[in-house]
Amino acid sequence: MPEIIYGSLIAEKCRTETAEKTAHLKKRTGKAPRLDVIIAGDNPASRIYVRNKEKAAANTGIVSIVHALPVETPRENLLQRIAELNENPEVNGILVQLPLPNPEDEKIVTQAVSPDKDVDGFHPLNLGRLMLREDGFTPCTPRGCMRLIHSVLPDISGLNAVVIGRSTIVGKPMAQLLLNADATVTTTHSKTTDLPSVCRRADILVAAVGIPRFVKAGWVRDGAVVIDVGINRLENGTLCGDVDFEAVLPKCRAITPVPKGVGPMTIAMLMENTVEAFCRQNGIDPAQRTNPSL
Ligand code: NAP
Repeated sequence: MPEIIYGSLIAEKCRTETAEKTAHLKKRTGKAPRLDVIIAGDNPASRIYVRNKEKAAANTGIVSIVHALPVETPRENLLQRIAELNENPEVNGILVQLPLPNPEDEKIVTQAVSPDKDVDGFHPLNLGRLMLREDGFTPCTPRGCMRLIHSVLPDISGLNAVVIGRSTIVGKPMAQLLLNADATVTTTHSKTTDLPSVCRRADILVAAVGIPRFVKAGWVRDGAVVIDVGINRLENGTLCGDVDFEAVLPKCRAITPVPKGVGPMTIAMLMENTVEAFCRQNGIDPAQRTNPSL
């Protein structure tokens, strides 16, 4: 029987562990980890994401401070705010909610966050550390996907993994994490020829495309593990993933649903990264990430 991997349940377990860790750290240091989130403008989806992050922080004992800036905030002011947070020893993690009102600001603003507080893992130094298998911050969504994969396949060494999508926040770090865990990895994108036959080679198939129900049953090898990163809102208001879930399900060994799959893991990993940042900044061994592929 195919297994549905409910990220929502695994994320709940991660949050409980983070809450325990945070309580322990508070007892030991007298301080709680703190996450500062900058949101510029009034993008409704971004507001929901930020509210969900605040809720998750509250549930795990992490202090969260939201800096809501007006849509017309100039780049210099954004950079100034980041510089202040970088300098503030009370701040452990900094997250700039994307997209920014001016997409041209995104690169420079992301790179302005101190790599030691970059809990999103988007700074070039952290992406480089991921490639070098050194400790750093791993982008939250791919990190969450690895947890989901490991929940059904503890050892993926030698397996064929195919990632659809090569974005900097999902596809590329996802492929690197799979490679770090000794899978044989193929990254595909919009110029890939004969994508269905590439996908059919996959023991592990990760879809991060942004096209509703893009991956068809005929693309999936019998017994594959399928991770659906996509979050697409349909005209009727419902959410669906990048995988044709109903059709693909019978072919899989395991598959994530949308919603309740990868989405909740992203926020749970953000909380873990924030606790890791706190530990490192306070000279405490985070006692996790002994394996850089996680
Ligand atoms: P993105 O930056 O738009 O990247 C999409 C990727 O898909 C690109 O690499 C693109 O290729 C590739 N692609 C587009 N059309 C294709 C086609 N016909 N065949 C093969 N590849 C194709 O998107 P993203 O930020 O990675 O996000 C992907 C999806 O994941 C979205 O639905 C997003 O909402 C969702 N997401 C979910 C979470 C979560 O927490 N669950 C987090 C982040 C993103 P090119 O590079 O060649 O253009």
